[in-house]
Amino acid sequence: MPSHLKVLIAGSGPAGLTAAVYTARAQLGPVLIEGEPSSTSDQPGGQLMLTTEVENYPGFPDGILGPELMTSMRAQAARFGADIVTAKVTRVELEKSPFAVWTGDPDAPSPTYETEALIIATGAQALMLGVPGEDRLLGYGVSTCATCDGFFFRDQHIAVVGGGDSALEEALFLTRFASKVTVVHRRDRLRASRIMQERAFANPDIEFAWTQQVVEVLGDGKVTGVRVRHAATGAYDELPVTGVFVAIGHVPNTAVFRGQVALDDQGYVATHDGSRTNVDGVFACGDVQDQTYRQAVTAAGSGCMAAIDAERWLEARGS
Ligand code: NAP
Repeated sequence: MPSHLKVLIAGSGPAGLTAAVYTARAQLGPVLIEGEPSSTSDQPGGQLMLTTEVENYPGFPDGILGPELMTSMRAQAARFGADIVTAKVTRVELEKSPFAVWTGDPDAPSPTYETEALIIATGAQALMLGVPGEDRLLGYGVSTCATCDGFFFRDQHIAVVGGGDSALEEALFLTRFASKVTVVHRRDRLRASRIMQERAFANPDIEFAWTQQVVEVLGDGKVTGVRVRHAATGAYDELPVTGVFVAIGHVPNTAVFRGQVALDDQGYVATHDGSRTNVDGVFACGDVQDQTYRQAVTAAGSGCMAAIDAERWLEARGS
């Protein structure tokens, strides 16, 4: 028999955990499905588990480590009685109320949970280049997480691909280990914020390979370089690096909700009027519905909004 809930939260980044704090304090007895450690880019705690110093989360004047921030948020949600379950949502049926949610075997005859309200906070994960060699050498020199893997590249020459804040953050972090970091960017101008650009430009261990697109990751068993194509001339070159950190943006974790709730053309959950989706009783918060801000603090804020929206929605229907 499925457990019957008032509110189920899928996802355990700042959005999901904040929603859990609020719904637990509102005595709604939330269950939060936190995900499972399956890969470096998709794990409980979300993307902050893969970052180092978070300097722009209010309340921490000296900064805080991403994993430490998430551990604190998790403890806070648990303190108010949120039931945090280490599992993945594998299937949902949202056509009728209560909503059916499966964890584990998606073909099981009955769902694991039935819930009146659902808060989707499953976040986003790293985009990959999709070039030859990348998949084959993932974990053998190709990484999406400097915090996880930077240590393995002591005194080596590493490439970071991308021109946004993530790329520069990875590059700056990697200079702790690497002898040299080359940021390979497809344009001649960075997308990253001014402060990150200034830091990267001031770091003598970071150099830039402008207007170059990585077209192949080279290596047999481990990375020995990347093949790049110069945008202006179309000429090819090789960069002899032993590590490639891909930091080119993210895709939303919405596969399990496809066909059940409206997504935008990029696959993000479409929200309106705060955290509402096209399905009455289903709310979304954090990076899974936000292509614009994508900050820990905005995710946490939208988690709060989703919790309040869900609470009011439940109250209005007399639950
Ligand atoms: P982003 O801002 O979308 O930047 C992605 C970068 O990758 C862009 O420079 C883009 O090039 C490049 N790119 C995309 N697809 C590519 C491809 N197929 N081949 C080569 N290059 C490709 O993503 P992000 O850096 O992950 O940042 C996402 C959000 O999180 C941003 O809002 C950012 O401010 C925020 N963030 C903040 C911090 C911080 O404040 N410390 C840290 C990390 C992230 P183009 O520029 O040519 O499009």
